[in-house]
Amino acid sequence: MFLGHFGLGFGAKKAVPEVSLGALFLACQFADLLWPTLLLLGLERVEVQPGATLMTPLDFVSYPYSHSLLALAVWGALFGAVYKIATRSRMLAGAVLGLLVPSHWFLDVLMHRPDLPITPAGTARHGLGLWNSMGGTLAIELLLFLAGLVLYARATAARDRAGSIGLWSLAVFLLVVYLASVFGPPPPGAAAVAWAAQAMWLLVAWGYWVDRHRVDV
Ligand SMILES: [Zn+2]
Repeated sequence: MFLGHFGLGFGAKKAVPEVSLGALFLACQFADLLWPTLLLLGLERVEVQPGATLMTPLDFVSYPYSHSLLALAVWGALFGAVYKIATRSRMLAGAVLGLLVPSHWFLDVLMHRPDLPITPAGTARHGLGLWNSMGGTLAIELLLFLAGLVLYARATAARDRAGSIGLWSLAVFLLVVYLASVFGPPPPGAAAVAWAAQAMWLLVAWGYWVDRHRVDV
């Protein structure tokens, strides 16, 4: 899943308006932001295998530290606690961020074929395989994304032109990147997948930047 995670990040703004969109993106995409670094370090593994599922050529061979439910729950608890202490925000802000991190697993489990572990060492793998349905995949991705975007756009107002153009260009950019990845050619190899995934940090920065140019309403 890609757009759906960002949808959850956008939508969470309504519950915790004091938290920047950048921090919300960081939480809901923590798994996919950690993953490429672990791939490059050789601690996790992905293979490009066209036809793995209808919607993605990626075979997620092993990703216990970035994508097991238990690891994500621990990362979430740490992330929420560090955020709360570092920013002296209320408990709810830390709690929402702490829950957004493992939310990633529950959204991914809808799409992936059974490759998601519960614990880093466990052998059971989960996934409902919606990636084998183009209609189902696009419906869930777009529904979550648009619902979250509408919630964010209504919970905040642009402070200046950057606040409106920045938000709408971010939304269009996410859509284009997603559609290009679905309908474009498969990546040449695992290293290319990892480096492309590192570019997602730019979206976190974009989230922080947009949020600074909007106010809560
Ligand atoms: Zn993921």
